[in-house]
Formats: sequence, C-alpha cells, structure tokens
Amino acid sequence: MAESPDSVVVHEIYRSIQGESSLAGRPCTLVRLTGCNLRCSWCDTPHAFTGGERMSVARVVEQVQALDTPTVLLTGGEPLLQEGARPLLSALCELGKAVMVETSGERDVGGLDPRVIRVMDLKAPGSGEDARNRWQNLELLGERDQIKVVLLDRTDYEWVREVIARERLSERVGEVLLSCVHGELDPQQLVAWVLEDNLDVRVNLQLHKLIWHPDKRGV
Ligand code: SF4
Repeated sequence: MAESPDSVVVHEIYRSIQGESSLAGRPCTLVRLTGCNLRCSWCDTPHAFTGGERMSVARVVEQVQALDTPTVLLTGGEPLLQEGARPLLSALCELGKAVMVETSGERDVGGLDPRVIRVMDLKAPGSGEDARNRWQNLELLGERDQIKVVLLDRTDYEWVREVIARERLSERVGEVLLSCVHGELDPQQLVAWVLEDNLDVRVNLQLHKLIWHPDKRGV
C-alpha cells in the first residue's frame, strides 16, 4: 500500500448511526479505512483488513458532504496507520461536523487536529493484543476524548477495574466506555459488576448490533 498524505485507502463509506461512544444514536457517516496491524481475538471488522480503493482526501470529503450527517466517524481497521488519515481528519473538521476517530491505541494519537474527538481503545487481555497498548498515549488525551475497553470476561473486567484506578482514567478523559464482546459477555452481567464496584464509566452497548443483524453495518 503506497503511502501518500493526500490520499487514503478506503474500505467503505456509508450512512448509519453512531453505534457507540457518547454520540451513540446520532446520525453518522462512517469512513472505514483499510488495514490493521493488530488481530484482536474478537475483531468484528476483519473484512477491513484488506481490499479497498485508494481515494484522494478531497474525494472522501466530497462523498461525506453528500451524505450530509451531523457527525462523521473515521474508523477501520486502524485508520492512523495511513499517513493521509491526519489531513483527512482536518478536512472533515472543516465541514463543521462533529468528527470522531476510533483507534486501537497502538499508534501515537498525538498531533491530530484538536477539533477531533479521539475514541481510543485500551486492549484487555482477552483480545490477545494487550501487549500492544501504547500507554504513553494516556498523557495525550483530555476532556474531549474517550477511552473504550471491550471486555470478553471477568478477567478482562478485573483488568480494566485495576487500570481505571491506577491510571485515573475517569479524570483524564470525558468518557470511559466499557463494552461487551457481542455474544460472549452478557451486558446484564457487566452492569451488575459496574454497579457493585461503583465505577465511573459508561456501559456502551453497540446499538448497530441491536438494531440490525450483528453482521449488517448500517441501512
Ligand atoms: S484493532 Fe480493531 S480492527 Fe484491528 S484487529 Fe483489533 S478490533 Fe479488529
């Protein structure tokens, strides 16, 4: 995949709603870039690992503008692997929309357009990719940003409970989002644990998987 700051390899662009985060339920245009350097055990977007079409940043912006939603989400795969992702984020912000980027947390999340809301994963042990967490990223996040942790089981929950306390996550960012691996961890169970420990987090249901079939990604 040849790198260029003026273009990105795009897997798909489509209209849907924000499935997760503090903007869940808001109409959203999703721009999914191709490629990821991680292989989380429960990954629900392996279709984005390969393929796609190289498009200029200007063409992506034009398509997003035509889809005309108040929010835009740049996701993947891992969008920050591509050099063109940063100029694309700035160009999307120029449209005056709420722009979010979802990242695995393995890449450096510094130096992005300050208007962008960063939704950064921390990978729990059940993902098989917890060794790839770039802990120094935590210093770069602020009130506008969100940290998301997807949990497979009780071991993952105990891991994140310890990380929240050790790293003071709820003080660092606007939202700490806890999600269940779909079909593996029961959200009722997660809610019971969160209430028992009185955690300052937002339990994050993947709305798109409740509205549509888990394999369907939008209208
Ligand atoms: S970082 Fe995201 S896209 Fe990459 S393997 Fe993990 S869940 Fe899948």
